[in-house]
Amino acid sequence: MQLFDVYPLYDIEPVRAREVYLWDKNGVQYLDFYGGHAVISIGHGHPHYVGKLTAQLDHLGFYSNSVQIPLQKELAAMLGELSGYHDYQLFLSNSGAEANENALKLASFHNRRKLVIAFNGAFHGRTSAAIAVTDNPKIRAPLNENHEVIFLPLNDETALQHAFQRDNICAVIIEGIQGLAGIRLPEPQFLQKLQNLCEQSGALLILDEVQSGYGRSGKFFAHQFAGIRPDLITVAKGMGNGFPVAGLLINPKFKASPSLLGTTFGGNHLACAAAVAVLEVIAQEKLIENSVKMGDYLLSELQKIKKGVKEVRGRGLMIGVELEFASDAVRKKLLFEHRIFTGSSHDPNTIRLLPPLTLKQEHADRFLESFGAVMKNL
Ligand code: PLP
Repeated sequence: MQLFDVYPLYDIEPVRAREVYLWDKNGVQYLDFYGGHAVISIGHGHPHYVGKLTAQLDHLGFYSNSVQIPLQKELAAMLGELSGYHDYQLFLSNSGAEANENALKLASFHNRRKLVIAFNGAFHGRTSAAIAVTDNPKIRAPLNENHEVIFLPLNDETALQHAFQRDNICAVIIEGIQGLAGIRLPEPQFLQKLQNLCEQSGALLILDEVQSGYGRSGKFFAHQFAGIRPDLITVAKGMGNGFPVAGLLINPKFKASPSLLGTTFGGNHLACAAAVAVLEVIAQEKLIENSVKMGDYLLSELQKIKKGVKEVRGRGLMIGVELEFASDAVRKKLLFEHRIFTGSSHDPNTIRLLPPLTLKQEHADRFLESFGAVMKNL
C-alpha cells in the first residue's frame, strides 16, 4: 500500500530528539524553531514526560470513558489552576479540529442557533464545522458547504458592529493569535468589543487557543492579554507535547447531559498522563515566564534587522517575520545550510517561529546569527 500523498515533504528523516534539537538518520543535528508545528511545548524527550508516560503505559494504557479515570480529574484541576479557569469544565478529545467541532456544536446546542462569525485568514481545522469556519475554500468539500458562516476582517470593529445587527448569531470563533494566517494579533480592544456584542446578543464567544495557548504567547492563553473570559476555549498542540490530546474549556453556564458529547479515545490514560506531565513541567520550569523573556529578546533583536524584513509580529514564542519577498528561499537556507527548522504560513512572505518554550539564550542567539547571515547574503 502507498501513502495518500497529501504532505509536501523535506528529504529529512529525524530519528531522535532532545530539548530543542533533532537528529536525522545521518546524525545531522537540527535546531527546532518550528516545534513540529507549535506542538513541542516542554522540549523533546523531557525526562519527566518520558518517565510519566512510560510508567502509565506499564500500568494501564487505555480503557474507555465508561469507567473512572481519576487522571482526567487531576488534569482538569491542574489546567483550571494554571490557566485561571478553575470554575470551567473540561471535555477531552484528540485534535484541535475535534475540540473546535465540539465547541461549535455545544454553542449551537446552547442557544439553538446556526449562524457563526469567523475571520478572514482563520484556520480552525478540517472536520465539518471546523472547516466551514476556516477561511480556505480550497480545502472545503461540497459536503462541508451547508454551514451558515460569515467571514469578517480581523480587527474591523465597524464590520463587527454591522454583523451584530442580526439577532440570530450562534457563535463567534476567533484564534487567540492567528497562526496559519502569518501571526496576526487580534487587538485587545477588538476582543473586548467582541465579548460585549456576544453578551448582548446571546451569541457565544469561542477562543481557539489550539496554537496560541499553553503559555506560547507569554500568558497561559493569548486572549488573556485582553482581559476577556470567553464562553468556550479550545486547546490542543502544546497540551500533549506530541501526544495527541485536545480539550474544550466550558463555562459553568453550560450544563452537561449524558452523551451530549463523546469520543472513544479522548481523555485516555496515556493522553492524560502526557498532559499532566506537560503542565507540571510548565509550572516547575516557569516556562510561561521563559516564553515572555525569550520572546521579548527575539522580537527586539529581529526588529533590528532592517534589510529585507518588512515587519516582525507576535507575542512570546509565537513570532511572525514578514519579509519583503517570498520567504521560501530563506527558510530553505536556514534548514539546509544552518540546520534550523522554521515554519511557513499562508502568507508566502511570512516565516513562523514556534520553538519549544524551553528555549535558551544560546539557541536564540544561534538562530539570530544564522537568520542575520542569510538575510545579509541574499
Ligand atoms: N486551530 C488552530 C488555530 C490551528 O492552528 C490548528 C492546526 O494547525 C487547528 C485548529 C487544527 O488542529 P488539528 O490539526 O489538531 O486538528
